[in-house]
Amino acid sequence: DRDLMALAIGVAAIIMFIGTGANVMPDVVQALQGLGLPPDRLLSNALLLNIALIIFGLRRYRDLQEEVQERRRAEERARELAETDPLTGCLNRRAIASATDALIAGSVERGEHVGFLMIDVDNFKRINDANGHSVGDNVLQACAARIADLLPPRGLLARLGGDEFACVVPFSAGMPEPVEDFARRITMHVARPVPIGHLELEVTVSVGIARSDAHAEANAQALLHMADIAMYQAKKTGKNNHCWFDPAMEKDLRERHELETALRAAIPAGEFVPFYQQQIDIETGRITGFEMLARWTSARFGHIGPEQFIAVAEEIGVIDDLSEGLIRQALRDARDWDPSITLAINVSPVQLRDPWFAQKLIKLLVEANFPANRLEVEITETCLHENIQQVRTLIASLKNQGMTVSLDDFGSGYSSLAQLQSLPFDRLKIDRSFVSPMSGCTDSATIVRVISSLGEGLGLPITAEGVESAEIARQLRDLGNMHAQGYLYGRPESGSETLARLEDMGLAARPRPAERDQRPPLSDVA
Ligand code: C2E
Ligand code: CA
Ligand code: CA
Repeated sequence: DRDLMALAIGVAAIIMFIGTGANVMPDVVQALQGLGLPPDRLLSNALLLNIALIIFGLRRYRDLQEEVQERRRAEERARELAETDPLTGCLNRRAIASATDALIAGSVERGEHVGFLMIDVDNFKRINDANGHSVGDNVLQACAARIADLLPPRGLLARLGGDEFACVVPFSAGMPEPVEDFARRITMHVARPVPIGHLELEVTVSVGIARSDAHAEANAQALLHMADIAMYQAKKTGKNNHCWFDPAMEKDLRERHELETALRAAIPAGEFVPFYQQQIDIETGRITGFEMLARWTSARFGHIGPEQFIAVAEEIGVIDDLSEGLIRQALRDARDWDPSITLAINVSPVQLRDPWFAQKLIKLLVEANFPANRLEVEITETCLHENIQQVRTLIASLKNQGMTVSLDDFGSGYSSLAQLQSLPFDRLKIDRSFVSPMSGCTDSATIVRVISSLGEGLGLPITAEGVESAEIARQLRDLGNMHAQGYLYGRPESGSETLARLEDMGLAARPRPAERDQRPPLSDVA
């Protein structure tokens, strides 16, 4: 509006000049040349004023014009910044959402629909953690460039944040094949090694796709939600692939969400309880210890197995709390057992990453006044290829505190002999997938035999788990002395059932009468 003002001044001056100046001008010119009488003073002043105004007005107008242009350029830049992601130059989340809504708005009239792709880099956190953030940034830039290479003519690419990208691609009604093709080409094109400095990184993406014609009132928000669910599905089915949204997935996701909510609530509600499965010396049949196995009876879902809830608890970051409550209870229970009987606990790979894990365990031991040498920590073989150095340090500090450490599920992972030798385990547990079928399957029997002699060679005692029949027990006994665990000897039982069993065998700790009277009768607990 300031430039309008300047323009108005200019225009007014010109009008006045034409109105008054035209009459006076010849006189003024003549007077200046000394030929005629000077014109009316008032009039000539007005004329000069007008000329000044015109010059001043024009200059002012030009200045303002420049100022405006500059401001416009700055605004343009600001809008660009507000619409694009500075790292990759892609659109950002807000920009692609409004572009998608704009595309959908006119699409049906054009005989079109919109495909929305959600693209997520697989294991990006691992890439970042292992190589640093600047390598992570380079990977994101490379991914963006590779996807942009494939983008069809009216397609748009955005980075939604983190390692998530999105594309919108219009397609002709009834012909979604180009979208499918685009998604397939993205996974293939991105999966080529990314050269970064002297490194060559393996990068893959998972893609979820939603289409605007699948839902009556699909807007950007809804498409993003559906594509996200489909992407999650693509991850679940092995990554490096793509998946179209299907309403059934939404149901799965809702259930999963409900499970997560129930799990969070179950920890303070004390719904997780420790069960115990006995471990015996296969030669004498004597009980040597119990393995604690977590059990959950959810008010909403009923019985849920640890194979399922441990993984969920790890993913939502509550495994630490969950496990702490269970271990605390287990230490309390195990105090009532004969001091010769050990307690074995399982720890998840997520817990092993916690640098304070050993300290936390010690704190629990001290709280429960439970001797460290009766606690055995089972680490699964799959933990070993995560961060061997960290696991090594952890094992060392657990052992320094007097605990024993065993390698669980041995044979199911890929630990090398060298690793096995370099880590100071106290015991090997042969995975039950070899032991349970060994009576009918010579291959399994051979593997068990090899592992057993391996243990002997390394001086590592062995526990065979999954001993389901007397025949298996007989075969194992032939292989030498070892510990055994399995349904043949007993299924996992509650704390009170376990104690009752031990009492019957005379293997309960010296009774402490004051405490014993308060314990509810067995029938109430079972
Ligand atoms: P695992 O450590 O290998 O535990 C042994 C599993 O084999 C248990 O399954 C047990 O019930 C089962 N089992 C015992 N004897 C036999 C047998 O003779 N035949 C067969 N087929 N199976 C037998 P469960 O209780 O379902 O636990 C599954 C897995 O969940 C455990 O495998 C362990 O990795 C994990 N887990 C259980 N409790 C916890 C826990 O408190 N923390 C962590 N981090 N993981 C746990
Ligand atoms: Ca175990
Ligand atoms: Ca096991």
